[in-house]
Amino acid sequence: MRHIIRSTAIVFALLISLAFAVSLLSDTGTQPKPLAISELAAKVGDGTIRDITVRGDEISATAGDGAAFTAKKEPAVSLFETLVNAGVPKEKIAAVKVEVKDPSSASVLAASILPIILPFLLVLGMFWYMYRQARQGSMQAFSFGKSRVKLAGMNPDDRKITFRDVAGLHEAKEEVREVVEFLRDPAKFHRLGARIPRGILLVGSPGTGKTLLAKAVANEARVPFFYVSGSEFVEMFVGVGANRVRDTFETAKRAAPAIVFVDEVDAIGRARGAGIGGGHDEREQTLNQILVEMDGFDTNDAVIVMAATNRPDILDPALLRPGRFDRRIILDEPSLNDRIEVLTIHSTGKPIAKNVNLRVVAERTPGFSGADLANLINEAAILAARKGQKSISQDNLLESIEKVMLGPERRSHVLSVKEKEVTAHHEAGHAIVAASLPHSDPVHKVSIISRGRAGGYTLKLPSQDKYLKTKSEFEAELAVLLGGYSAEQLVFNELTTGASNDLKVASDLARRMVTQYGMSDAMGPLSYGETHESIFLGRELMHDRTYSEHIAQQIDAEVRAIIDRAVVTAKRIISDKMDTLKVVAQELITKETLEQEQFYALIGQPAPVQASA
Ligand code: ADP
Ligand code: ZN
Repeated sequence: MRHIIRSTAIVFALLISLAFAVSLLSDTGTQPKPLAISELAAKVGDGTIRDITVRGDEISATAGDGAAFTAKKEPAVSLFETLVNAGVPKEKIAAVKVEVKDPSSASVLAASILPIILPFLLVLGMFWYMYRQARQGSMQAFSFGKSRVKLAGMNPDDRKITFRDVAGLHEAKEEVREVVEFLRDPAKFHRLGARIPRGILLVGSPGTGKTLLAKAVANEARVPFFYVSGSEFVEMFVGVGANRVRDTFETAKRAAPAIVFVDEVDAIGRARGAGIGGGHDEREQTLNQILVEMDGFDTNDAVIVMAATNRPDILDPALLRPGRFDRRIILDEPSLNDRIEVLTIHSTGKPIAKNVNLRVVAERTPGFSGADLANLINEAAILAARKGQKSISQDNLLESIEKVMLGPERRSHVLSVKEKEVTAHHEAGHAIVAASLPHSDPVHKVSIISRGRAGGYTLKLPSQDKYLKTKSEFEAELAVLLGGYSAEQLVFNELTTGASNDLKVASDLARRMVTQYGMSDAMGPLSYGETHESIFLGRELMHDRTYSEHIAQQIDAEVRAIIDRAVVTAKRIISDKMDTLKVVAQELITKETLEQEQFYALIGQPAPVQASA
C-alpha cells in the first residue's frame, strides 16, 4: 500500500512539473495586456494598433509604441467581421497589418490532448512503478544466482601477498612468472601473436599454498583477483551455477586484465557421467558453462583462470584440452628447507625467543603442509600467551607439533584403570615393534593421553624426508601398526575396539601394496585399478573394476597373507620382549607420556640420532 501512495505522489509531482513547463513555454517576453474584443476594436478604431496576429481564436496585437495586447474573438467568425461588427471603419482596419497563423501546437496540445492523456499517463506510470517494484523483489529472491565473486586483495587492510610470502614452490613460482608478465602488459604478447594460457591448473594437496600462489600472482601483476569456490556451485538449483559462472566471467572481463581463481574445481569438474542416477545436471551445466566461457574468450581478453585441485585424475578430460586448463603446475609438499622457509615467514613479526631453532621444528614436521606449519606457529603463539610468556619458546613450538598433527589433548577423557592398562600395553606394543625393526621410523614419543580421536598414540617420525618407500619399510610399518593389536592379544588374551583404526590403516596399506605398487610376488607387477574413481556417493557402489572376480579373490588372499605376515612379525617381537613391554606399559601408566630419550633409555637402546635435534 505504501508503495502505491508513494508512486501516485511521484506521478503527480511529474505531471505538475510538466504543466508548469508547458505554461513557461507558451508565454514569451513581456506579459501582454489582455483586452476585451470591444476594447481592442476601439484601439484599432483610433489607430493605436500597428499589427495583429490571429492564431485560432487568440488575437495578439502590438501598438505603435510597442505595447502588446491579447484578446479573444468568437470562434468561427473572422477578425475582420468582428471588427466591422464592432463599428470600426474599414479603412482603419486596412491600416493595420493582420497576420493569420495556425494555432500554436503547444497550446493545442495543452488545451486538447493533455486532459485526455493525463489519466492514461497516471495509470501507466503507476503500473510501471509497481512492475519495477515487483521485479526488484524477485531479483532479490534470486540474487544468489548472481555470482558472489569476491574481489580479494582490494581491501587496503589486507596486506598484499606477494611472491615473497610464498615459501618454497620454486618451480611453481618460476612457471607463473610468465603469467605475471603477461597480465602486466598483455599487448606486448599479443603483438607477437603469442598464445598465453587461459587456464592454469594448480595441483597440490590441501594447504600447499594454491590460493596463496594465485593471490600472489594477482598482486604481483597488480590485477584484480576474483575468487569462486567449486563447492559453492554444487549446493545450488539447476541453472543457478551456470548463471553464476557467466556472471563471474563477465565481471572479470570487464575488469580485465584479471585473474579468476576457482577453488576446488574438482567439485564441479569431475568427469561427466560418472555419477549414479540423476542429480548431477547442475554440476554438468556449471561445468559446461565454464567451458563455454573459456572457449569464448577473445584473444584480447586478458583474463586468466587459475583453478585449484588435489585430484587432477578425476577431472573431466574436456577441462584439460588445449585452450582450457592446458597448463598444470604441481605444488609439492614442502621439503625440509621449504618448511624452514614457511616457518620463518610465518614467525616474522611475532616475538620469538632467542633459543628457538626453526630447523629442529622443521625436521620434526615431515609431511606437514604450508597451512599446517602456519597453524603450528599460531598454536605456539596461543600457548605462549596462555602461559603468560613474553615470547614464543622452542617448547611451545614442539608442543604444538603434536597438537596440529593429532588434535588437542583431551585430558578430560578419563580412562578407567582397566582402560589405562589396555591402552598402555597397546601403545607399548606399537613402540617396541617400531624400535625393533630397522626399517621402521624411530619412535618419537609414546603417550596414553587421548588426542583428537586417538585413545593414545605412538609418534614415529622419519629422520629425513622420503619420496620413495621400499617394500621393507611398508612391511615394517604394517608390523608396527599391528603391534598394538598383537600386544593386546598376547597380554590380555582378549581384543578391544581400540585397534580398529590401526587395522583399517593396515588393510588399506596392504591392499595398495598389492594393487598399486606391485609388491606382491603372487600378483606380479601389475596395477589392478579402477578405470576411474566415481564421484563421492557412487564411489563405494561403482568400482569399475578392470579385473575379474577371480583376480579379486586372489588380491584379497594376497592382502590377507601380507597382514598375516605382519602379525607374525609383531607377535614374535612382542613375545621376545614381553618383559620390556611390561616395563614400558607400567611407566606409561604412571607418567602417561614418554619422550624419545626416556623411551629408548627404558628399553636399553641408544636413541636414534636426529639430524640436529
Ligand atoms: P590451498 O589453497 O592449497 O589449500 P592455501 O593457499 O589456502 O592452501 O594455504 C593456506 C595457508 O597456509 C596460507 O594462507 C598460508 O598462510 C599457509 N601456506 C601454505 N603454503 C604456504 C607457503 N608455501 N608459504 C607460506 N605460507 C604457506
Ligand atoms: Zn594403535
